[in-house]
Formats: sequence, C-alpha cells, structure tokens
Amino acid sequence: MTLFIAKLIWFFGVAGWFIIRYPHARRSRRTPTVRRGGRALEIALLTISFTGLFVVPAVYVLTAEPRFASYPFQPILAWLGACLFVSALWLFRWTHKELGRNWSVTLEVRDRHVLITSGVYRLVRHPMYAAFWLWAVAQALLLPNWIAGLAGLAGFGTLFLLRIGREERLMEETFGDEYRQYAARTGRIIPRLF
Ligand code: SAH
Repeated sequence: MTLFIAKLIWFFGVAGWFIIRYPHARRSRRTPTVRRGGRALEIALLTISFTGLFVVPAVYVLTAEPRFASYPFQPILAWLGACLFVSALWLFRWTHKELGRNWSVTLEVRDRHVLITSGVYRLVRHPMYAAFWLWAVAQALLLPNWIAGLAGLAGFGTLFLLRIGREERLMEETFGDEYRQYAARTGRIIPRLF
C-alpha cells in the first residue's frame, strides 16, 4: 500500500459513513422530539468532533499540511487502519438499524421513544460511539501525521467524555429502573464479560 492509497481509503471510509447516515438524518428531521439536553454544548461538541474527524484530516489529505508533523508511512499500520475502518462502518450501520427512529445526532428524547436493549445493544450501551472510536483509531493508523492522525481521537474523545454522562442521565430520567437495570448488565463501549 502507498500513502496515496491510504488517503483514498480514509476518504472512502468517510464517504461510506455519510452514505449510511444520510437516510437516518433525513428521517430524523421528521421525527418529533419531546426533550432535549443542553443545546449549545451539543452544537459545540459536534463541531469539535467534526473538525477532528473530517476537517483536519481533509486538509492533510488534500495539502499534506501540517508538514512538520508528518512521519514515515508504514503500510502495515495503514492495512490495520483499513480493516478497522471497515469494522467501524459495519458496526455503525448495525447500530443505526437497531436504533431506528430513536436515533438523533444531538441528545434528544423522541416522541414514543423506545429503549433499545437488543441486538448489539444487548452487549454494550454505546455501540455507535464504539464505532466512532474505531473510526478515530483507523484515522490515526491511515494518516502518518501526528496532528491529522490524532485529531479524530481528540475531537471525538472530547464529544464522548462531555456527552456520555449527560446521555445516561437523560436515559435514566426517561426510562427509570428499566435503564438502571440495563446499565447494570452492560458495558459502555466494551462488553461486560462477567
Ligand atoms: N449512545 C448510543 C446512541 C447514540 S445516538 C450509542 O452509542 O449507540 C444518541 C441518542 O440515542 C440519544 O439522544 C438518546 O436519546 C438515544 N439513545 C441512547 N441509548 C439508547 C437506547 N439504548 N435506546 C434508545 N435510544 C437510545
């Protein structure tokens, strides 16, 4: 594999993500919302995550900047990154299918919201965020540049850390004991084995 191919794989990964999300984003606009969590913070977090997972790596892929942060390309890392990106997209598609109309890009409770605990949600409470972590690691492995590579981990990591507690509180307020019991038997992004 060459650096050019690695950059192309990154690009097709992002395009694949967009294609999977598009129909859900359309339906989401038509689905009524009954409660929202912290609007301004949510917009700020989405902007930070988008910058790290898309804007910074896109600048690197198109211009090779910031050059001082580049290091030698290693095909084996890029192959690993490609595999992780494919698994991220597969998991991403699966979580969207399971969540259906309950999904929203910012924290929201929908009209007739249902708590999903089946499929991949039987194992972990945040498989879609697990998919984004896989994407961020894939980006770091595909792009041999300290800034463009790690921007995804920093950007999505910020969203994850500042959202996860608020999301779980919102779910607990909405579903009460049903969510508390669900949380007791699942892991956040890694399955609880014992
Ligand atoms: N954190 C989950 C969902 C991300 S989408 C994941 O990583 O897979 C974010 C929206 O999903 C939130 O607005 C919340 O209302 C909703 N949500 C989170 N967990 C849910 C669940 N188990 N069932 C139904 N909706 C859920």
